[in-house]
Amino acid sequence: MNNSKVFLVGAGPGSLDLLTLKAYQLLKTADVIVYDRLVSNEIMDEINPNAHLHYVGKQESEHTIPQDEINKLLVHYAHKYKKIVRLKGGDPFVFGRGGEEIVELVKNNIAFEVVPGISSSVSALTYAGIPITHRGVSNNFLVMTGHTCNTDGLDLVPWSNLQSVGTIVILMGVRNKSFIAQKLIEGGKPSKTPVAFIERATRHDQKVITSTLFEVANKEIFVESPAVFVVGETVQFHHQWNWFLKEESLEGLGVSVGI
Ligand code: SAH
Repeated sequence: MNNSKVFLVGAGPGSLDLLTLKAYQLLKTADVIVYDRLVSNEIMDEINPNAHLHYVGKQESEHTIPQDEINKLLVHYAHKYKKIVRLKGGDPFVFGRGGEEIVELVKNNIAFEVVPGISSSVSALTYAGIPITHRGVSNNFLVMTGHTCNTDGLDLVPWSNLQSVGTIVILMGVRNKSFIAQKLIEGGKPSKTPVAFIERATRHDQKVITSTLFEVANKEIFVESPAVFVVGETVQFHHQWNWFLKEESLEGLGVSVGI
């Protein structure tokens, strides 16, 4: 084993100040940075200017570089450089395929470390004034993917088991949103259940769109990726707190634009 190390680093949801201190220090000192589409420009502006950069951006629908090539790329860089940062949006293990990269690193005897990041699956809601749990309203939550190559895959979801989930958070769910809403209703979720889409969460142009399961299932709602799709009663708090969130004194809670 040589003395190089690959750091799988969570970049958080986008806002620079939501990067961990550890991630920040690694970005300043990395020899190579392999990064995704979801890493914000604001964060990329902070990296070591001498680092070698490699973009492996992925769109929801198209994988620009196949995952096994990314895995091999990390091994390649580990043989060439000392400090390799694999930077991913949010947390590396929340639909980040971090585990697959680690399997390849282990196979090649390459040292690694994982630096957790703030996941959009929780922080997007926080910045939209939606508590993911709230005593008496929602006492559990589920994070799931809404992305499959075809809708048949989503049919394998045990939709009727989801009716007892307090807050359902769907990542990569924009394209299949109507299908998902329809399945949740068929599975027993009341059609009036409030829904929110949080686009570009925590970024300066964050946008929150609120609706109901019925509307999402039956109407054309325009939502831009990346967005977090939230289903549950705590979405109601967005409306109650929204105007507070815009007050400067409560800036710490983040910004929110309701419709
Ligand atoms: N590892 C990431 C998730 C990767 S899956 C994390 O922990 O956040 C990619 C999906 O995450 C996107 O399709 C979108 O649903 C969500 N996402 C990531 N960053 C986002 C952001 N800033 N705003 C809204 N959604 C985001």
